[in-house]
Amino acid sequence: MEKINTEVGFTGLLRYDEPMAGHTTFKVGGPADVWVRPEGEGFPEYAAVLRDTARSEGIPVFILGAGANLVVSDQGIRGIVLDTTAWEGCDFAQGEHAGYDGGNPGRSAVVIRSGTGVDDAVTAVAERNWGGLEFLAGMPGSMGGALWMNARCYEKSISDVLIETEILDESGNRRWVPCKTEDYGYKKSPFQARDMVILSARFALEYRPQGEIRQDMDTNRQDREAKGHYRFPSAGSVFKNNRQFGKPTGKIIDELGLRGLRIGGAEVASWHGNIIINTGNATAGDICALVALVTEKTKAARGIILEPEVLFAGDWQNSNTPPAYQRHLGP
Ligand SMILES: Cc1cc2nc3c(=O)[nH]c(=O)nc-3n(C[C@H](O)[C@H](O)[C@H](O)COP(=O)(O)OP(=O)(O)OC[C@H]3O[C@@H](n4cnc5c(N)ncnc54)[C@H](O)[C@@H]3O)c2cc1C
Repeated sequence: MEKINTEVGFTGLLRYDEPMAGHTTFKVGGPADVWVRPEGEGFPEYAAVLRDTARSEGIPVFILGAGANLVVSDQGIRGIVLDTTAWEGCDFAQGEHAGYDGGNPGRSAVVIRSGTGVDDAVTAVAERNWGGLEFLAGMPGSMGGALWMNARCYEKSISDVLIETEILDESGNRRWVPCKTEDYGYKKSPFQARDMVILSARFALEYRPQGEIRQDMDTNRQDREAKGHYRFPSAGSVFKNNRQFGKPTGKIIDELGLRGLRIGGAEVASWHGNIIINTGNATAGDICALVALVTEKTKAARGIILEPEVLFAGDWQNSNTPPAYQRHLGP
């Protein structure tokens, strides 16, 4: 592991040929040509310089959160992976100074940096008796990834509590972008169509007694535990839900008897149709092939075309099992 110091005054970690399996919750993924994790206050400046330099050299830059929604190809990622997870922390003062809701003492706001772990952010907010983020308790990932995905659970999306987002835009400028409800949808955020870095975001909070907040957080964490979210490496739900299907996607996969279906080390969880697990030695290719097989079987049996929620990232070009469906990721 190499510590680097640059002329833009930041410290961090930089590694060549870094296996991405160590940076994804699925525990799969080949090497990134360059993986860099800036530390300290210089993150935004460093990210701007890195992206600018890389662009002028024609080198792609992939922005990495906690890797909780990714299937990274076995061939890895070409170019540079900018890991955001050391850019973390919650700033309550900034929230209060924003005068959110006309100074109503029962309401406040917090600015959370994008690399902050979702559960860490929820806990930090709860410790100050502020409610609003409890629904996210126990969800893996970073706040930046959750915003990019417009993560959703327990009938709420992260955009429901979002006031504004600070981004590093396409030209390398830091800007605050207000949350416009119409730009967000089910697992859809405006960031998905842009080549920018989410730096931080301001969230609306409301006062709640500590006991109530804790109870909701515990209930959600226990529910995830009971649903087997943490039993094996995975990326949570593999496919999106769709109201037109009339029932949750997991239920449809269950009804087709696909639980336990296996390719290599990847398996449709025996307890949940919409979770694919890495049983120990899965490759990204196994997972990708299993996603394709479940999609094919569901289409044949029900005429339904499932849409993956997980993102296939990296270099799939010479793969035997290229993903049938690939979201735009990075430049
Ligand atoms: C056990 C388990 C349960 C889960 N349950 C849920 C759930 O209930 N609801 C739900 O919605 N999801 C769930 N997920 C998926 C995952 O937790 C969320 O999608 C999470 O918010 C992803 O965040 P991340 O930091 O891991 O993003 P990554 O997987 O690292 O990245 C996702 C995307 O966001 C982009 N990105 C990340 N950070 C930034 C940034 N700072 N700036 C710009 N782009 C960025 C990446 O480039 C990528 O395109 C679950 C996952 C697991 C493993």
